[in-house]
Amino acid sequence: MREPRPGIAWSRQRLRRRAAYVTWMTSAAWLAHRRQWHAAWVAHYGEPPRCVSCGEPWALRHGDLHHRTYDHLGAERFAELVPLCRPCHARLHRVIESSPAWRKLDRPRATDAAIALLRRHAHGARP
Ligand SMILES: [Zn+2]
Ligand SMILES: [Zn+2]
Repeated sequence: MREPRPGIAWSRQRLRRRAAYVTWMTSAAWLAHRRQWHAAWVAHYGEPPRCVSCGEPWALRHGDLHHRTYDHLGAERFAELVPLCRPCHARLHRVIESSPAWRKLDRPRATDAAIALLRRHAHGARP
C-alpha cells in the first residue's frame, strides 16, 4: 500500500478503503470470486470472455478484472467486473487518470467512456 505524501490529505475513510481493497485483492476469496465470475460469464454468454477493449481471449489465470465500481467490494456483482487484458487495463487507467475532466466523472461512466475510446483506437480510428 502506497503511503500518502506529506501535505496531501488522505482522509481516514480513503485510507480505510485502500486497505480493504488491498486485503481483498490479495485474498484467496478474490481468486474464488474470479472463478465464479468466469463461470457466470460462460453460462451467460455461452463462450469464454474476451478483453472488452481489443477482443483478445481473456484467461482466468492472467486476465485482469476492472472494477466499474467499488460499491460492493468483496461481493462484486457480475456486471461490476470488466474483463481486460493487462495492457488494455493499463491503458484504461492511463485514460481515466489523465486529466481532471476524466477524474471528475464517476467511475462507471469514466470506465464506459474510456473503453469506448480504447475500442476506437483498437480499430484503427484516431479521434
Ligand atoms: Zn486488450
Ligand atoms: Zn481497473
